[in-house]
Amino acid sequence: MKSMKKAWLVIGSLLLFISSNLQAEVKVEFAEASTPETKVWKEKLETSSEVQAVVDFINERLQLSRELLFSYGVEDGPLFDGEKDTVFIPYSFLVEVEERFSDAQYEESGVSVEQATVDALVHTLFHEFAHAIIYFNEIPVTGREEDAADSFATVLLTEYFDRGEDISISAADLFHLESGDYETIEDYDFTGEHSLDAQRYYMIMCHVYGSDPESYGVNLEEMFEEERGYKCIDEYELARRSWLALLKPHMK
Ligand SMILES: [Zn+2]
Repeated sequence: MKSMKKAWLVIGSLLLFISSNLQAEVKVEFAEASTPETKVWKEKLETSSEVQAVVDFINERLQLSRELLFSYGVEDGPLFDGEKDTVFIPYSFLVEVEERFSDAQYEESGVSVEQATVDALVHTLFHEFAHAIIYFNEIPVTGREEDAADSFATVLLTEYFDRGEDISISAADLFHLESGDYETIEDYDFTGEHSLDAQRYYMIMCHVYGSDPESYGVNLEEMFEEERGYKCIDEYELARRSWLALLKPHMK
């Protein structure tokens, strides 16, 4: 009799474990902000429908094998920590990105500095989330995971979000601005896990162009010579097809 009870206990806790994992979702946490600039961003993030839309999209569409936390207001990041099942986003990241867009007078592009900053964050959230779902759900990746995470963000934004391409363009422009940080490229720069900022910029822009050459052809044809531009169309299609196929078993 005792062993029967034990067996039921084991089955019960197993079912509980399975059902809690079936409902594994992204949760969000905001730390206290300590400076006037970071306080402003804490408030903006807490009420931003665009930032919330990322979490809603993930929770409505994707099945994670484990619960994931988006933690705002820590020191380091943006990064995904696989030991803590957490994506960390510092408030200072937003302050720095805003400063960069502001210094570059980004509003002249027709997109406000604040909008561009939120766009860059949204693309970054999908990038970090890509690392999480690849790790949690053991999704295969060939090639550099960092490039795969960028294409994951661009594809999902393009396919599922109204301003998806514009969000990706703001994110790409941030890499373009960051690429101006170094005057010369040393051997060391090639050893990193990420592609160089300039390469990340061109890859995202190539995918945006490739996703809709008629809409983006006019702006981007100076950037990509005809032959390269045509390849962007195929590259985006391959990225889209690959990610949608890889995510299919993990869609709700
Ligand atoms: Zn990454």
